[in-house]
Amino acid sequence: MDSSTILIVEDEPDLVRILKYNLEREGFRTFAAGTGNEALAILDREPHVDLVLLDLMLPDMSGIEVCRRIRAAERTKGLSVLMLTAKGEEIDRVVGFEVGADDYLVKPFSVRELMLRVRAILRRARPPEPEAEMVTFGSLRIDQAGYRVWVGDEEAILTALEFRLLATLLARKGRVQTRDALLADVWSIEADITTRTVDTHVKRLREKLGPAGEYVETVRGVGYRFRLRPDGEDA
Ligand code: CA
Repeated sequence: MDSSTILIVEDEPDLVRILKYNLEREGFRTFAAGTGNEALAILDREPHVDLVLLDLMLPDMSGIEVCRRIRAAERTKGLSVLMLTAKGEEIDRVVGFEVGADDYLVKPFSVRELMLRVRAILRRARPPEPEAEMVTFGSLRIDQAGYRVWVGDEEAILTALEFRLLATLLARKGRVQTRDALLADVWSIEADITTRTVDTHVKRLREKLGPAGEYVETVRGVGYRFRLRPDGEDA
């Protein structure tokens, strides 16, 4: 669950209802505004908004203008903005330097796609937790800053995605990670992928890690778990 606060700026009541329902179900707090002015007023009085879902076509001003004002004000300039656009609307400008949205979604979008984007943006916005650069686990040695991995004395050559998968599993060692959670956290914004993708990449990661591959355990019917201890004695 995520307790971040999201401001929905959208003038279609049905869409507002769907967004609110789904975001709150995932644990987000929400505010909703039907116009640009209402949105700016809410941002004025609510200091804890983390992300703005911003429709491009609003009755009183464009989402682009709202985004500009958010970026122009000292207090809100660091806010995350996910723009909701219709096909063909000035997407390049929206995410470009001129307007400065963090990302955009083209309507109609799926709830799953929305959640992936929202989580990815919020994760990027959060300052990274300080972590030790070198981590050792059994025969594994991981250089988190340099994105390199050794099994014993042999370096395992991982793709960026495999490295992220390994680092994510390791950071949560001893805890089961569902395929969906891994998809959201490791793959973040690519939408055309299925939970089978997770299986394929875990398989490849294990092969590359050789004997250390067994640290990544399959939890049948649920997902994967990085062993709590190298010897597998989790007690
Ligand atoms: Ca609209």
